[in-house]
Amino acid sequence: MYDVRGNIRKVLADIPEGVSLCAVSKYHPKEYIEEAYAEGQRIFGESVVQELRQKQPLLPSDIEWHFIGHLQTNKVKYIAPYISLIQSVDSIRLLKEIDRQAEKNNRTIRVLLELHVAEEETKSGLTPDEAMAMLEEGEWRVLSHVEICGIMTMASYTDDEEQIHREFARAHDFFEQAKKKYFATQPSFSIRSYGMSGDYPIALSEGSSLVRVGTTIFGPRVY
Ligand SMILES: *Cc1c(COP(=O)(O)O)cnc(C)c1O
Repeated sequence: MYDVRGNIRKVLADIPEGVSLCAVSKYHPKEYIEEAYAEGQRIFGESVVQELRQKQPLLPSDIEWHFIGHLQTNKVKYIAPYISLIQSVDSIRLLKEIDRQAEKNNRTIRVLLELHVAEEETKSGLTPDEAMAMLEEGEWRVLSHVEICGIMTMASYTDDEEQIHREFARAHDFFEQAKKKYFATQPSFSIRSYGMSGDYPIALSEGSSLVRVGTTIFGPRVY
């Protein structure tokens, strides 16, 4: 196994106070998560519902599970009882289903809007224009069992640091505008989730408040 505990300490040393670490444990066995947990890590990110469903009952109940992958509406029900933050909301339809399942479970589920700011084609999420249109349209306002707490985004997979800066800056612009226009009275709209193993230092310089780090902590994933 990788020196998971040492790696957690190194990443934590890199990130300023007030920034949180989501340890991305997808495709890693539960023993890796237990190592990180022993180091005090509590936030873990998973991207496949089936995998999360297998791991969650076997691990401590005070873990805060974040869902970071593409989420199909028909699978929301499986994670709704315990998920701490769904970072990957990319449609009003998904948001409504999360609201419905949260209500069934008598709770409020916190979510982030997933933004597509990468110049490469392959990334998922709403463009800033689409996300703004969704907020403007206003259907989300009547959903009383979800709380939109900010944004999540991924930069292009590239060596061009300027480009990565530019993409995160675009996400940050959206965050500021949305906050001013729609969430000025909601202090919980505060999460900027950007930065992965390859680009979290850049993300931090562009105002990230939550980095999602997998490989640097747990090593390469075996799919
Ligand atoms: C897998 C994944 C990560 C972690 O990526 P690493 O490069 O391993 O740090 C972060 N965010 C999302 C959305 C992911 O799917």
